[in-house]
Amino acid sequence: MPQETQDAGGDWQARARAQFPILARHPELTYLDSAATSQKPQAVLDAVQDYLTTSNANAGRGTYPWANRTTELVERARERVKEFLGDPAPDRSSVHLTSGTSEGLRTIARDWLPHQLADGDEILVPYEDHRANLEPWLEARQLLAERGTRVQVRALPRQSSSGEYDHRALADAVGPRTRFVAATHVHHVYGGDMNVHRIRAAVGPEIPICLDAAQSVGHLPIRLGDPALDVDFVVFSGHKALALPGTGAVWARNSRGPALRPAGWAGTPNTVGAVSLLAALDWLDAVGVDRVAAHVMSLTVLLTDRLGRLDSYEVLGCPASLTADSVLPAAQRRHGIVTFRHREIPSDDLGFILFSHGFMVRADSLCQAGAHEQNGSVRVSLHVYNTREEIDRLLALLESLE
Ligand code: PLP
Repeated sequence: MPQETQDAGGDWQARARAQFPILARHPELTYLDSAATSQKPQAVLDAVQDYLTTSNANAGRGTYPWANRTTELVERARERVKEFLGDPAPDRSSVHLTSGTSEGLRTIARDWLPHQLADGDEILVPYEDHRANLEPWLEARQLLAERGTRVQVRALPRQSSSGEYDHRALADAVGPRTRFVAATHVHHVYGGDMNVHRIRAAVGPEIPICLDAAQSVGHLPIRLGDPALDVDFVVFSGHKALALPGTGAVWARNSRGPALRPAGWAGTPNTVGAVSLLAALDWLDAVGVDRVAAHVMSLTVLLTDRLGRLDSYEVLGCPASLTADSVLPAAQRRHGIVTFRHREIPSDDLGFILFSHGFMVRADSLCQAGAHEQNGSVRVSLHVYNTREEIDRLLALLESLE
């Protein structure tokens, strides 16, 4: 049995779960849609309540104490993002607060990328990941074309069987005019780690890499000082990492290629969102992201190992992770996301059946770009609050539909 499975649960996990009021209030329901957005711990709710009832004001303007405190909190949230991501050189990076990953990627595509590209240049982007990591790059190409600059947008090559990038083909695809690569850290449908270190090895040391980390920040430890994570942009959704809806951030390295514009005070920022992000990252660090990752992994292994044995279900992507009893390294496992189809029951019907038993899952096309869009599926996605008992109950129900 994989090591992670033995580590499941523990008192710390029960204590962590008890801090999510919405879960305590609805014991009849099981939330399995954290890849869409996470639930919020009491500490985040308290921080927001405290801020709104003690010092709510605008940021970056005003000189009275509430305004100063608001400005400080927003600035602190930006610095906290750097700390949380293990930024080894915070004086050479910047953080932009956004409403989520979609806005973050669009900001890079609109405000930074066009200035890096000349006629005949190429960029490589994922065509089968989340739509949010494709559409902004296509829009940038369109914008440039309107100005008379032709840029080629090429697909990051992938292995059709597993959903992983094809790193060998990628090395061949990189040419003298390749200027930028966009990739995903953890796939939002397959849950697999997309092995960024291999992307860097394939494209060489100079080309900026932008990482969609929507499904990894707050789930997996991220240490930007680690040579295996040599990227130039990390984009994530605060709301998937326990902060309020409408939160997210872009971390930009500012050293390989001209910098993203320094974060400033254009308009009123989402101050409450920044407060919630600060509290969420504090909470995650206090609990320990390593511990969260190991717990979520243990539940994911339980789910994939048992689901992989049920003939009526097709589990999408990452076939290696379905090998029962295999001891796979974490990088080849799924990280809290398992997507599947029943071979006879349509996915939207399966979604209704699951909800009739209290399980809230995602059952649609999962915003995936490309042809996969046509086929619905059911996605179970986990966070720190989910328990082994919930997964056992889910599996019992899925088994009963065999
Ligand atoms: N990228 C990935 C991999 C995602 O999973 C998601 C959301 O599900 C997004 C981007 C979009 O995130 P947001 O809704 O915060 O803009």
